[in-house]
Amino acid sequence: MSRIPYGRQNISEADIEAVVQVLRSDFLTQGPVVPEFEKVVSRYCGAAYGVAVSSATSALHIACLALDVGPGDLVWTTPITFVASANCARYCGADVDFVDIDPRTYNMSVERLADKLELAKAVGRLPKVVIPVHLAGQSCDMQGIGELAKTYGFRVIEDASHAIGASYRSEKVGNCRYSDITVFSFHPVKIVTTAEGGMAVTNDSALVKKMARLRSHGVTRYAEEMTHAPDGPWYYQQIELGFNYRMTEIQAALGVSQMHRLDAFVSERHTLANRYNQLLSGTHVITPWQHPDSHSAYHLYVVQVPSGGTGAGHAQAFENLRAGGVGVNLHYIPLYRQPYYATMGFKRSDFPESEAYYAHAISLPLFPGLTTQEQDEVVHLLTGSAGYQTIF
Ligand SMILES: *Cc1c(COP(=O)(O)O)cnc(C)c1O
Repeated sequence: MSRIPYGRQNISEADIEAVVQVLRSDFLTQGPVVPEFEKVVSRYCGAAYGVAVSSATSALHIACLALDVGPGDLVWTTPITFVASANCARYCGADVDFVDIDPRTYNMSVERLADKLELAKAVGRLPKVVIPVHLAGQSCDMQGIGELAKTYGFRVIEDASHAIGASYRSEKVGNCRYSDITVFSFHPVKIVTTAEGGMAVTNDSALVKKMARLRSHGVTRYAEEMTHAPDGPWYYQQIELGFNYRMTEIQAALGVSQMHRLDAFVSERHTLANRYNQLLSGTHVITPWQHPDSHSAYHLYVVQVPSGGTGAGHAQAFENLRAGGVGVNLHYIPLYRQPYYATMGFKRSDFPESEAYYAHAISLPLFPGLTTQEQDEVVHLLTGSAGYQTIF
């Protein structure tokens, strides 16, 4: 592991105690703590219901299935995301297409989405579902996407894997005001963790029932969901083909405990991001622009390193940081460049902003517990000695 990783978990004694308590209890899975975690998260973000699952990947899968995504359907997302945002559509047998990004927020561009929808309507190939991703923890223009969803009749799943604790227009991301379902990830590099884990939140009682069934084999114990009256008190029915995507009680206990510190985590990420902004101002490095509608969760701090000019170029800066023990990453390689998706015939020239982003982006380390000394080291390695002079 790098001396300074790009992200890492922050575990307290209270977190450890919460996990140990479950280990001493009657239930390691399917007990009371998973529903408690669902309540804590859905209440926090202002959604009516939550379905806790084994990962955001499984949450995206059951979210697509709940919206009846299947073979022949089309799902659109952004190319600048983790592969899971698109793979969920492929699991359902649907086709995937991408919408280019906005050059300032790096999120799906609402203008490009509108253009693409108009063309798609003309040829009768509209998407069934659009999956905007709140890159780095900054919300997409959800009002714009919501309006297009009404006009063109598609459903919306927010991939908020980066964005628990973030706000959009002074409301928490996850309230599903402009979407059908919002998905969170609790992987250790994300804002709060359950080791592995995810959640789908929604305001739709039919969708939550369907997702809860799909998480556990497609099985129900509720009489009202059965095809006929129960044979007896032992009775359950498999209604459809589901999975074992359950979250354990151990994971949920860690999640409940971590949620107490969510606001503190986000606030510390803002403090660190502001300090990077100051250290990097006046250098050739471009710091992340923030839309006034958005209060980011700052899962990532993505800078752009222009090629040419005085400082080290993109690849050189990346190499300098890695050689210096800093675990920088590039979030993300555009999905249409991945061999799996490239075979589907995408043209790089259709995504000029994603290509420009890919040529210049670097994610700097950002996590609660990152020290100011470590930040100084990162900035020194990134900007080289010229930048160093102007900073100190
Ligand atoms: C991390 C991540 C996922 C997948 O999360 P898991 O919980 O690891 O399955 C999906 N989408 C995005 C944008 C992510 O960053």
